[in-house]
Amino acid sequence: MFRVTLGYVSPGSLSPGRGTICGAVTSDPVVALTFDDGPDPANTPVVLDVLAQHGAHATFFLISELARRNPSLVEQISSAGHEVALHGRRHVDLTSVAPWTAFATVRAGLRELARVPTMAAHPIRFFRPPYGTQSPWTHAAARWCGLEVVGWTASPRDFLVLEPERHVAITFDDLEPGGVVLMHDGPPANPTRRVAVLHAILGAVAERGWRATTVGDLLEGRTARRRRWLLRRAAAVVEEMRPLLVREDLTPLPPRTP
Ligand SMILES: [Zn+2]
Repeated sequence: MFRVTLGYVSPGSLSPGRGTICGAVTSDPVVALTFDDGPDPANTPVVLDVLAQHGAHATFFLISELARRNPSLVEQISSAGHEVALHGRRHVDLTSVAPWTAFATVRAGLRELARVPTMAAHPIRFFRPPYGTQSPWTHAAARWCGLEVVGWTASPRDFLVLEPERHVAITFDDLEPGGVVLMHDGPPANPTRRVAVLHAILGAVAERGWRATTVGDLLEGRTARRRRWLLRRAAAVVEEMRPLLVREDLTPLPPRTP
């Protein structure tokens, strides 16, 4: 099977502050939901509606420029009990820029997001690098800014156009209690499909008797599961497409008759 491994759990990786957070060590029926790339006027409100219908909570990794332009959306996210975190100032692959630039970019994004009025009462704890790409330098940059880096354990690949059941199957191939699900509420505007995928995922979470919550809530009172997560853009693209590269439904061809 063609598979790219994002990282590995090293023996010392559970000590506080080391490695990238990819969930919590727990058998409790709980997972964290995360949304990247927002806020977006078309997508974020419908995502918030669906979360409310299911009684679910999530962490929103925001692009700070979009947050500055849409402060009311940040207010809606926060007032509904969701968690706000940083995804970057813009959607830039930090491994493609100089270390100092990566640090300056994360710091500028953090400052910009913190200046959105709603955020005064909510310290920003978590950062997810755009595309999930990371080098030791970019990881250190986030840590120097006082942020914990959060990855994910499962993704429905909601940027692909698939049947909702396929998105669910792809997600639960990789998801177990304590895991983190990666989704998106940023541009482009396609609220109908976002709703369909999110309903399907949350329905499947409920079927299993699990609860969907924020990263902060998932980690509350639990040990973070940390991984060494170093990922370049080319490997990230292959990983995003992995479910399409693996044809699990292939059946052998019948023997050829002469
Ligand atoms: Zn992103």
